[in-house]
Amino acid sequence: MRKKIVAGNWKMNLDLQEGISLFSEITNMVKDEVRGNQEVIVCSSFVHLASLAAHSKSLNNVFVGAQNLSQEEKGAFTGEISATQIKSTGASHVIIGHSERRAIFNEDNETLSKKTDKALEHGLTPIFCIGETQEERESGSFFDVLKKQLKEGVFHLSDVDFSKIVLAYEPVWAIGTGLTASPEQAQEVHAFIREEIASQYNQEIADSISILYGGSCNPKNAAEIFAKEDIDGGLIGGASLKSRDFLDIVNVFNV
Ligand code: PEP
Repeated sequence: MRKKIVAGNWKMNLDLQEGISLFSEITNMVKDEVRGNQEVIVCSSFVHLASLAAHSKSLNNVFVGAQNLSQEEKGAFTGEISATQIKSTGASHVIIGHSERRAIFNEDNETLSKKTDKALEHGLTPIFCIGETQEERESGSFFDVLKKQLKEGVFHLSDVDFSKIVLAYEPVWAIGTGLTASPEQAQEVHAFIREEIASQYNQEIADSISILYGGSCNPKNAAEIFAKEDIDGGLIGGASLKSRDFLDIVNVFNV
């Protein structure tokens, strides 16, 4: 059975104290809600990681993740953060390839594939994001775009390593815009991704990988989206900054 995952992406929000306080609110509410094959992951700025991870240690199925890492091991890379450093905070996951990293910080597929390798080498679970722009959706080239992101970003991984990652389909036009892919649009892409995995690896691996949807997911639309057979949860931006909304999304799997 695939893991059902709700991951929050706090982006560059909240100072240390605000982050600790939001995480306490979230964990107090979710601790009795997260069942066997469910996971809740909070991806925060680096500054929060150690404090949140210390708190999540005692909780089943609640994890902390970073939002980026360096593809380099260590050394003269001022301002960067390494996989070892992230791991040493107690965090277990890392978002790689978020569309904001791709678009604003020019991270290309080659860089992202190196970051994925580095994360896996150090025992961090990548939450690898792919997604098309509005223009690519409208021109109909989006399946090719997604295929290229998969091929160049993660399809070089061995069966064993690929089985460790989480994928997130995040249409760029839906991130932070209030526009959500319809459940049917999201399902169509998730099924496509799973088919691509099956042909690159095999059906068993394709069936076991959790693929999250991200893009203006909220308590009102999450249930309908998560009900689709190839959608295993969500990567949640804006709504993860409100504990009640985030909990309502986590609880979609409990009804
Ligand atoms: C995100 O940043 O990954 C995201 C999905 O944001 P939002 O939910 O705000 O669209």
